[in-house]
Amino acid sequence: MRGALVGPRVLLRRLREVMSEPASAQARLDRIVVLIASNMVAEVCSVYVTRADNTLELYATEGLNREAVHLTTMRLDEGLVGLIAREAQSLSLSDAQSHPAFSYKPETGEEIYASFLGVPILRGGNAIGVLVVQNRAARVYSEEEVEALQTTAMVLAEMIAGGELEALARPGSGGTALRRALTLKGQPIAEGVGLGHVVLHEPRVEIKNLVADDPEAETRRLNAALEDLQASIDDLLESGGLSQAGEHRDVLETFRMFAQDRGWIRRLQEAINTGLTAEAAVERVQSDVRARLLRQTDPYLRERLHDLDDLANRLLHKLTGTAFTLAADKLPENAILVARTMGPAALLEYQRLRLRGLVLEEGGATSHVAIVARALGVPTIGKAEGVIGLVEPGDAIIIDGMTGEIQLRPQPDIEAAYAERARLRARRQEQYRALRDKAPVSKDGQAVEIQMNAGLLVDMPNLDDTGASGVGLFRTEILFMVAPSLPRAQAQEGLYRTIIDIAGKRPVTFRTLDIGGDKVLPYLRKIDEENPALGWRAVRIGLDRPALLRTQLRALLNAARERDLRIMLPMVSTVEEFEQARAMLARERERQRRLGQQGPRQIQLGVMLEVPSLLFDLERVFEAVDFISIGTNDLMQFMFAVDRENALVAGRFDTLHPSFLAALKRVADLAKRTGKRVSICGEMAGRPIEALALIGLGFRSFSMSPSNIGPIKALVRGIEIGGIEAFMAEKLAQGFEAASIRAQLTEFAAAHDLSF
Ligand code: PEP
Ligand code: MG
Repeated sequence: MRGALVGPRVLLRRLREVMSEPASAQARLDRIVVLIASNMVAEVCSVYVTRADNTLELYATEGLNREAVHLTTMRLDEGLVGLIAREAQSLSLSDAQSHPAFSYKPETGEEIYASFLGVPILRGGNAIGVLVVQNRAARVYSEEEVEALQTTAMVLAEMIAGGELEALARPGSGGTALRRALTLKGQPIAEGVGLGHVVLHEPRVEIKNLVADDPEAETRRLNAALEDLQASIDDLLESGGLSQAGEHRDVLETFRMFAQDRGWIRRLQEAINTGLTAEAAVERVQSDVRARLLRQTDPYLRERLHDLDDLANRLLHKLTGTAFTLAADKLPENAILVARTMGPAALLEYQRLRLRGLVLEEGGATSHVAIVARALGVPTIGKAEGVIGLVEPGDAIIIDGMTGEIQLRPQPDIEAAYAERARLRARRQEQYRALRDKAPVSKDGQAVEIQMNAGLLVDMPNLDDTGASGVGLFRTEILFMVAPSLPRAQAQEGLYRTIIDIAGKRPVTFRTLDIGGDKVLPYLRKIDEENPALGWRAVRIGLDRPALLRTQLRALLNAARERDLRIMLPMVSTVEEFEQARAMLARERERQRRLGQQGPRQIQLGVMLEVPSLLFDLERVFEAVDFISIGTNDLMQFMFAVDRENALVAGRFDTLHPSFLAALKRVADLAKRTGKRVSICGEMAGRPIEALALIGLGFRSFSMSPSNIGPIKALVRGIEIGGIEAFMAEKLAQGFEAASIRAQLTEFAAAHDLSF
């Protein structure tokens, strides 16, 4: 090939001219293939585009039979072109017909060409088409030629992504792959159906100038941006602002490593030398990296891909002078935010009313942003693998936070079905709202207490919206998790007072810090433990390192002056642990008195029943505490030895297993005998069938997520408690016959006209 550095640049310049001509898309495409063929001294140049039905269609050709354009198609598992699209890798052959994947399409007349060079047209690491040149003579294409063709493919990628070629596709093919309707599946995080349009939390940079005339100037721009990037990473690493940015040290360390990586920088430089602008070079190299790493199964390498994506994205933003994340006030109406990951604070900044949903590539149900999303009532799906590479900004999208389903670019019938689902849900919500001021009293006149679980200030208005009679579980660690640094005593006191004030006459039960295990405070050093769920967490940390718990107790005592204060301790395993914590509280109260400060009117200290050891010392527990709250999430985890975070086992046993119910029954019976207050605050309390069982066992007090309050109140108002009590007594008396009594309870509910 002629002058490796000049050839592609001349071609790119000519292409740029063609792109700006006022001709039709097909005419421009036809001109482009002629230009490429002549520039590369090839007899053939063809463009294939991946269609929505997952086949490749010939869109333009110079050299092959033109009659075949828009007629010849091939499957992804067919021919050399299919192979390139499938693997998203270039293929250079001097004797194409001897390649095992070669497939002959008689209408194209390509049998006379021996050598073949094909490159994928990449978008987000996926092949949205294939660009091919062929020569009659057997020849070896040079590395520079491969490089030049790849660069040229970028121009075509822009054309396809811009939607210009949509109208050209053969009728009935559904258009190009980029417009394909897709169903994806993630993990349900926050329920609700969201219909809207894709908005990227970290918007892609739209590259307007692909071609540059002065490679030296582009190199200088690249180097300046790299230096700038390096400096900002160093700054982030040195400043204390890591947690605020939602970034962690190891990610930034990886960034730093890549930003200095010679191989990466060399590839960027080479891409500039082919005639690309610095930003187009970054996009080009990153597209190749994505294509390679996306096809890796090694989770470590895939993780690195995310880091590299982030880095490339930051570099692009530096080069184009655009902001890395979307300005929160720029959120359009009906937005479904799509992000790889996001800090909880970032989500809180977006205008709630414009937000219809959230899709995260990485976040799971216990991630901090998930907790905030639930608090805000934003339908959310996590662990949606690869979603960012598949969406285009503005795409229509529907998410179902109950099932984890994502419908991308949905067909009209799917859209109609979901719109109906959303309407139904809204109607139900309306019915539940109508119950807000109605008392949760059963048909036979028995009252049930329904309180709400909370963990952030934004949760608190839900008290009024749902008609909950109080906060039965305030997870204080969530306040700590979203804070940029450890809140000091005074800041804590202010927060707790605000919460108590918003609740007014309604009681709030504060749970002391339940950190450790999966709940990590970003600003505290994480301790590596073999079994974190069984490790140094919650009240164990509080007793071993008393400063943290003491500060919290002090702040609570000060916040609740002349008010009632309810505190409960998480993960208590023995009565002795409870007594130790109570002694600490007494000392703090004494200190308050000594300082002449007003204290709470009344203090109640309770225990969370989450560790099975307490079940075998129940009498003493009941004697020691002021109240009990059963954390069924953890109690289930420890009784059945199933990790609640591990999807492989988390759903293995049913909470309606007779042995679990029998254990709960003992607690309910003792509560009745002693008159001590017992409530249930695990997820079980908010699920109708489970709640039915719990009411039947004798429980009369529950605390649950705000969205569950309506359905549970409707349930209580629709049943005769006497009936369900008799039913449960009979089931338990029959002995443990099945692994779950869910089926019988569902039948009971149906027979009594209860619908959820
Ligand atoms: C529980 O374990 O049931 C509980 C309510 O606490 P958390 O889910 O916060 O561990
Ligand atoms: Mg718990």
